[in-house]
Amino acid sequence: MSDFTMTKDTDGVAVITWDVPGKSMNVLSRDGMAELERLFDYVHADDAVKGIVLTSGKSDFAGGMDLNVLAGLKDEGGDEPAQALFDFIMAGHRVMRKIERAGMDAKTSKGGKPTVAALPGTGLGIGLEIPLACHRRIAADNPNAKIGLPEIKVGLFPGGGGTTRLVRMMGVMAASPYLLQGKLVDPKAAKAAGLIDEVVPADQLLERAREWVLNATDADIVKPWDAKGYKMPGGAPYHPAGFMTFVGASAMVNAQTMGVYPAAKAMLSAIYEGALVPFDTALRIEARWFTSILMNPSSAAMIRSLFINKGALEKGAVRPANVPDQKVSKIGIIGAGMMGAGIAYVSANAGIEAVLIDQKQDAADKGKSYSEGILDKGISRKKVTPEKKAEVLARITATTDYAALKGCDLIVEAVFEDPAIKADVTAKVEAVVDAKCIFATNTSTLPITDLAKASARAEQFIGIHFFSPVDRMLLVEIIKGKQTGDRAVAKALDFARQIRKTPIVVNDARFFYANRCIIPYINEGIRMVAEGVNPALIENAARLVGMPLGPLQLVDETSIDLGVKIAQATKAAMGDAYPDDTVDEVLNWLADAGRLGRKAAAGFYDYNDKGKRSGLFNGLAAKYAPLDAQPELTEVQHRLLFAQVLEAVRAFEDGVLMDIREGDVGAILGWGFAPWSGGPFSWLDMIGAAQAVDFCAVLEAAHGARFAAPALLQDLAGKGETFYGRFSDQTSKAA
Ligand code: NAD
Repeated sequence: MSDFTMTKDTDGVAVITWDVPGKSMNVLSRDGMAELERLFDYVHADDAVKGIVLTSGKSDFAGGMDLNVLAGLKDEGGDEPAQALFDFIMAGHRVMRKIERAGMDAKTSKGGKPTVAALPGTGLGIGLEIPLACHRRIAADNPNAKIGLPEIKVGLFPGGGGTTRLVRMMGVMAASPYLLQGKLVDPKAAKAAGLIDEVVPADQLLERAREWVLNATDADIVKPWDAKGYKMPGGAPYHPAGFMTFVGASAMVNAQTMGVYPAAKAMLSAIYEGALVPFDTALRIEARWFTSILMNPSSAAMIRSLFINKGALEKGAVRPANVPDQKVSKIGIIGAGMMGAGIAYVSANAGIEAVLIDQKQDAADKGKSYSEGILDKGISRKKVTPEKKAEVLARITATTDYAALKGCDLIVEAVFEDPAIKADVTAKVEAVVDAKCIFATNTSTLPITDLAKASARAEQFIGIHFFSPVDRMLLVEIIKGKQTGDRAVAKALDFARQIRKTPIVVNDARFFYANRCIIPYINEGIRMVAEGVNPALIENAARLVGMPLGPLQLVDETSIDLGVKIAQATKAAMGDAYPDDTVDEVLNWLADAGRLGRKAAAGFYDYNDKGKRSGLFNGLAAKYAPLDAQPELTEVQHRLLFAQVLEAVRAFEDGVLMDIREGDVGAILGWGFAPWSGGPFSWLDMIGAAQAVDFCAVLEAAHGARFAAPALLQDLAGKGETFYGRFSDQTSKAA
């Protein structure tokens, strides 16, 4: 079975249809690329063919390159992986250049065969780069379609000619949101931006494409950069306007990426160097930079975590086998506060009927109005229609009446973080719901096994830990209590899939996985404040190593009083072994002064009257005298990173985390752990276990036992192994 098929009409139009068998979305494979080339060779040589329409047999055009192919090529390349990758990329350029030059006379640019890309829906990555090589792009008016080049988000950049072509089509400035931020747009916005030439009603797509092909002239199909006198829009680097753009772009990229994402820098180099030379040489330069990125450990780790393993987890890689589909049809949410309201929204938005319960009707109503707020924002951004809003809201019943839970097949409890209240709610719910209903708690700290004691059906009791804000955070952490059964796990995973979140499944322990690792990060930052490390150094060190928020900003966002509460509960549970008294002293001092974080417009930061951070609180330096000799930036960074990664290793050693892949994906999506690293385990593999153990020894000697290298890390170091090397037998589980 082929990925591409071709039909010829009597009027001389060849229609090449991309339809990868057995997949819901087209992705480009090596064989697919070869087939495409063969077909274009054939149609260009066939005198009966006047022009070509390239389209898709599916509702979308294509989702991109199969990134597994790139990983495979590297392995097959043996001693010369870079050469193998470069050759492959150049072969791709050859095919696309063939489409673009259309068999025309090299000198006169006459006699070529026009090719139009007809996109019924989404065209991403190479699924847009191939159309960019065509002579015209026509998209169906499909508001669900996404058009763009998202490569930068997985640590790559558009290396199928997209970088070079887009910059030459629209100039660096206009291309930068699509290249540097991976901005995706619907067809109408794509047309406004110039990515697409025409948007037509879906039922006229092929007809219009045919019409264009049959009427195209020689001049219509010569790309500007192949014509005499071409000048780059906005100016090339040595043009006065271009100079400003290029200088500005470089500063902008560094500001946005903190210099830690190699792909962004490499892309900028490809753009700059490519702008100085003719088109074909520019493609070659793009291919060299793209190869260098594919060979970069950071990009490889990002692809592994953010594309391959994230995708596998979303497809149910860790779902118990042999449990039939557990899709949710009616969900009950208890507690209509910040989390409950968000869970109701994502559920209703996914088509699930939702009952949202609180103690008082106005609290329940307020929870429902949260959805209204999000939908209204969507309407103002033209992402949501009024009909869709009405539909979603109609699915949410806000009430105080537990009887409304009848018929629910999943309950998510999101009431106050108090075991007694949670126990009471569990009993009340179980009194009305069907005996097969699964009960999930959204607790962020309380062990599931303990909470399950309030349930008469502990095997149906599970943790589904959402992150805030629920509608934006991509991860859900599913927690198995000691007695949690497979059906509950399957239900939680099927629910995660319905609401389009990435799930990880972990075992039960205080703080589970994500919070267990993020708390030491925050605490290390606060501890440094108490030691007299300059707070700005702490925050900037974190940002410069790729953390989205510095530890002090993070506590301000989540609130200082929450930190105090968690600290009190942890201390009560740990007794004398509790290690964080210094941290609590700082937190208590701020809390007593009413500096509760962003919500109080005062915390580690000061805030202006619009609620925006205006700088770090001066009182910190007054209370904790700055050290005369401030530590090196890298020492601060090591403290902040090792605080997290060593906890991740311990969570894996303890069996809380069952799979390092989930550990990496969960860290990036759950708390924003330096995405360039691919996650804590990928980062340790990148620096090497032996080196990591050496760093730990230095940190332990200077700052205490919390930095002692865990036994597993020491063992890997001693044997010269890596996490992904040793635990690759689990690859089948998650990759
Ligand atoms: P919240 O205070 O905003 O909301 C709790 C809601 O539960 C309130 O509306 C309250 O009226 C309601 N409630 C309390 N007792 C009730 C009862 N007996 N019956 C019905 N409703 C009741 O709290 P939140 O931030 O939404 O947190 C809820 C749960 O989610 C907690 O367990 C928390 O630990 C967990 N959680 C919170 C976050 C977060 O970032 N806030 C993240 C993950 C998990």
